[in-house]
Amino acid sequence: MKRSMKMKYKGYKGQLLVVDLSSGTITRRGLDEAILEKYIGGRGLAAKILYDEIKAGTDSYSQDNRLLFITGPAAGTLIPTSGRYGVGTKSPLTGGLSVGFAGGHWANNLKYAGHDGVLFQGKSSSPVYLVIDDDKVELHSAGALWGKTTQQTEDTLKKDLGSGFEIASIGFGGENQVGYATISNEQHVVGRAGQGAVMGWMNLKAVAVRGTGSVDMGISGRQGLQDVFFLHKTIRENEVRGLFRDVGTTGMLDPINEAAGQPSFNFQKTSFPDVEKINANNMKPWFQRFESCSGCPVACGSITKFKLDGADFITERIEHQSVGALATNCGISDLPRVFEAHDLCDKYGIDTISAGLSIAWAMECSENGLLSSEEADGLEIKFGNALVLKPLIEKIARKEGVGALLAKGVRAASQDLGRGSEKYAMHVKGLEMPGYDPRAFFGMALNLATTARGADHNKAFTIAAEFLGVLGDYDRFAYEGKAELVKKMQDSTVIIDSIIMCMFTVDLGISVDLYARAVNLATGMNISADDVYTIGDRVNTLERLFNQREGIGSDQDKLPERFATEPGSDPEKHVVDVSRMIPEYYNLRGWDKNGVPTPEHLEKLGIDA
Ligand code: SF4
Repeated sequence: MKRSMKMKYKGYKGQLLVVDLSSGTITRRGLDEAILEKYIGGRGLAAKILYDEIKAGTDSYSQDNRLLFITGPAAGTLIPTSGRYGVGTKSPLTGGLSVGFAGGHWANNLKYAGHDGVLFQGKSSSPVYLVIDDDKVELHSAGALWGKTTQQTEDTLKKDLGSGFEIASIGFGGENQVGYATISNEQHVVGRAGQGAVMGWMNLKAVAVRGTGSVDMGISGRQGLQDVFFLHKTIRENEVRGLFRDVGTTGMLDPINEAAGQPSFNFQKTSFPDVEKINANNMKPWFQRFESCSGCPVACGSITKFKLDGADFITERIEHQSVGALATNCGISDLPRVFEAHDLCDKYGIDTISAGLSIAWAMECSENGLLSSEEADGLEIKFGNALVLKPLIEKIARKEGVGALLAKGVRAASQDLGRGSEKYAMHVKGLEMPGYDPRAFFGMALNLATTARGADHNKAFTIAAEFLGVLGDYDRFAYEGKAELVKKMQDSTVIIDSIIMCMFTVDLGISVDLYARAVNLATGMNISADDVYTIGDRVNTLERLFNQREGIGSDQDKLPERFATEPGSDPEKHVVDVSRMIPEYYNLRGWDKNGVPTPEHLEKLGIDA
């Protein structure tokens, strides 16, 4: 195979690997420059490819689904935070389109090997892993790896294949098709909506990659280096950088809790009473050395070393979202047990937010007499019981006993259990809710209700505008202005996910103008901030079309009833009615009153559907 295709634009290798796991054939497919102009790469390109490839009504676990590992044009360049990749598929959890992202060093190696992405189709008759070693691409038997954790898989392959390989792999969660199974590389995780489950169904254990080439930028020489330096300097000089570096996102816990925005006890409360036992101050002494994704001046990762039952335990630093799911939403303040649960989720390859929310749902069901002790395998599944985390996570990953129910995710689990348990299932479109309570941030409420992926806070991190004051000054409890804010942020987020930079750059001084500049720097295109919003609108609309084709329409642009009827811990007793913002949001999007994109808007965006 050729190292790369000749392209009008830099930042690309110009080709995807296409791996048919049923036949074992490996081919390559060129990228169309006109498509890249409209969709850039990453999430945008994934939406276009998967919309075209996956036919309506395809079962997520079938030969007709696809699993696309995709990079952006920035990967492999000197642009800060760009060492990231995405994985897209038709989600088994939501039934809609889902693209998740992870950092580390995997993406750069794929680009250096000469490929922009890898498209998997079909199903291998036995477990395999793919090795991409520059031009050499081969499938190998993964029989000896099946049943290993992500960490064990990575260690084994790095030892067997030699130095320089980066490994993306699944654990038992993916092998067993847990609805929210993840894909991991160096404990960076492509999470949320079950990409790992599709990978497991395909009998694909891992993708190992080593590349020795390089990636040219669109603006080269002195000007290119000056632009790169400016982006790095902007991030380095931002005051938030120090906070990310010191304590990661766990620094959000105290202020969000104080603002009655920290979901607790399965969203029954919005402040956690024992927050001082689990906050960043408690964790900080256990954080050891810093870790960074490729070319990132932040280095927000770190090793955490702590004592569990008297023994040393070492793991990756936990994120605010995982604390929300496994600690506050489960009513648990035993930090070492939460760290252990987080570590197990990563190693078994299941999503921490969905696992935590599934356990929290079971806790509320048990406490209300909807889940018997026998159905709970004799476990005392109640809020605050830290000792139940480990056995439940093991059962979920192996789909054993009550774990088989919780492995479905809260929407399907509550439909299976019935008995009125649906009202305790905290999800949007089947994706479990993240750790920002919508009753405290009305813009976030609208974002969670409307993103194609389901309850994904990262599709428009309105907390930056509604709470942190980074992007303006918004009343977090106001309905007015939120439709416009959410649309703009959802659209600008697309460019972050498509060039693929880190979402945290939103808080680190990178403006929409600078994202446009980064695209131009990587590719040599000449897009403006206005173009950023148009591209974002196009991708969000195409994702909407994918979902509508699957029967996911405006009836699913809503939050669980609890948020409109039950105040949390807020003394002013705010609740949120998302339906008050939806008509304006649809109108701004160029969608009709039923949330369907109008033919005129599709034509304006240049979408052929
Ligand atoms: S900010 Fe953190 S997660 Fe983002 S690219 Fe840098 S090290 Fe990776």
